Amino acid sequence: MNVDNNPYRQCNYLLSAHTLQQFAEDNGREVAFVGRSNVGKSSVINSITDQKRLAKTSKLPGRTRQINFFTVTSDVRLVDLPGYGFARVDQSLKKQWERVIDGYFTNRHSLAGLMLIVDIRRKVTLEDENMLQWCDTANVPVHLIINKADKLPFQKKQKAYNEFHQYFKGRQVSMQLFSAQDKTGIGEAVDILNGWLDL
Ligand code: GDP
Repeated sequence: MNVDNNPYRQCNYLLSAHTLQQFAEDNGREVAFVGRSNVGKSSVINSITDQKRLAKTSKLPGRTRQINFFTVTSDVRLVDLPGYGFARVDQSLKKQWERVIDGYFTNRHSLAGLMLIVDIRRKVTLEDENMLQWCDTANVPVHLIINKADKLPFQKKQKAYNEFHQYFKGRQVSMQLFSAQDKTGIGEAVDILNGWLDL
């Protein structure tokens, strides 16, 4: 992909939803971004959309519980799902999170794909697996964004990639290395999004 021709640069904030009733209308197509708290999900969204503050980066992981919707075109959206796996959130917030996420995945006709973001230095978590399970059940394709690739030197980076590849062997999961800090991997991610969103 030619990065100058990136349709996600025109992304605009649409709305934030705390309940199912507040979700954006379920028409057209959308791709959701999800991952463990602090993996750099907001930074990945900001890199892909070439905007500094579209998704809010946070120094306080686990604070945002809402789902943020962004419009690309009138019937295409990107969706920022709340991060999971942060130990300090209390049980009632966790329950609320589960209800909203469950509601989102159970009946979202416009969901065309899931960008699952992981940290190159960490293993796949149980919550990551739950996300994959949801997508599997709903027949939604998953692309793994292995972020913070800048944190490892070349050989360790390749080794980590191979381990993820091995882990997902035989499953319908594509994957790539990414660094929101170095802005690497954007073209590849945009190609996947374009394919899912017919852009
Ligand atoms: P979120 O909680 O998943 O939305 O994560 P944020 O986007 O807020 O990022 C969490 C922290 O990781 C911040 O300090 C970011 O600067 C840092 N970060 C995000 N992406 C990268 C990356 O690709 N490389 C490095 N080195 N740090 C990153």
